[in-house]
Amino acid sequence: MSDMSENRRLLIAGNWKMYKTSAETVEFIERLKELLSSDSAVDVTLAPSFTSLEAAIQAAQDSSISIAAQNVFWEQEGAFTGEVSATMLKSMGVKQVIIGHSERRQYFGETDETVNRRIKAALSGGLVPIVCVGESLEQREAGQTFKVLKTQLETGLEGIDSEAARTLILAYEPIWAIGTGKTATPEIAQEAHKFIRERLQEQFDKGLVSSLRILYGGSVKPENAAELLTQPDIDGGLVGGASLKPDVFYGIINYKRN
Ligand code: PEP
Repeated sequence: MSDMSENRRLLIAGNWKMYKTSAETVEFIERLKELLSSDSAVDVTLAPSFTSLEAAIQAAQDSSISIAAQNVFWEQEGAFTGEVSATMLKSMGVKQVIIGHSERRQYFGETDETVNRRIKAALSGGLVPIVCVGESLEQREAGQTFKVLKTQLETGLEGIDSEAARTLILAYEPIWAIGTGKTATPEIAQEAHKFIRERLQEQFDKGLVSSLRILYGGSVKPENAAELLTQPDIDGGLVGGASLKPDVFYGIINYKRN
């Protein structure tokens, strides 16, 4: 039985992937700020490309919107052409960073080991990691979902103690539901979230885990947000496609009124 879900503020995070220029980023944030003005019940994060972070931080500075990066390298500095460190992100005002997104695992050789290194770098650099886990369709159909999640959590979070884990955010993103229009049913999502929370309880202090947020990601949209976000172990959404238009994204944030 999950407890204390009432202590976890919902977080709706938009993952913009490789979309939007700086100008489009500012336009989006200006509109979202108008929509958000009376709403403070839900935390809101946007994760633009590295090239739009500066513009996003400027545009969001008089609002409650947090800005996240979509990746971080594990070294602080050095001869690593094309990489960006936690120190660099933190110094510009980035608050959170998505780590281990399935697209990075699929196209850019991300493994549970590199996820682990990035999480440690983010934590020691003062960024909040949003750690993505999730199974493929093949793995789900072969009955391996929990085994896959267990390995991703064990290896991804290896060597991180409860004190450091205090700020972690997890995201359950079944790969078969990302960008496909297929959403996990609330029951399937809740079952996976509950499993993730129980695994975390084996690794970290129980009180801490009851306050950690686990987001669901995979074709979240205004039409299905309420049924997902009201599950006891679902503490928000990591939203791809539906985060690209401010009015649609706000439809998720404002899911109670849909
Ligand atoms: C994502 O990119 O993390 C995601 C969940 O995408 P979508 O909402 O488009 O499925």
